Amino acid sequence: MRELSDNELILLSRERGLKHLLARCTIIGDCWIFQGVVDDWGYGRYNYEGKYYRAHRLAYQFIKGEIEDGMHLHHIDICTSKLCINPDHLELLTPTEHGKLHTKNFGYRY
Ligand SMILES: [Zn+2]
Ligand SMILES: [Zn+2]
Repeated sequence: MRELSDNELILLSRERGLKHLLARCTIIGDCWIFQGVVDDWGYGRYNYEGKYYRAHRLAYQFIKGEIEDGMHLHHIDICTSKLCINPDHLELLTPTEHGKLHTKNFGYRY
């Protein structure tokens, strides 16, 4: 017997968090569409350990790791919905890089 290391605890809680989050999704093609509360901007809103998060940002953090402050996640072209939380459909960009992708015609997608 030994105690779990901090790293193992983080991985376990991420795994558990992800499992709960995915239980709230419907899989359509390659998209994992969040079925819970939607915020005013059209993104999934999810309560995790007493705090509200954007569902796609949380999924990204569970699977790919921390998002640095101020960084944006962009839903790539093959993705069909802002409610999709599949991290493979999300690209981590600086706000400047992100702004360039949304010059005209597009609504500002996070
Ligand atoms: Zn975007
Ligand atoms: Zn998608």
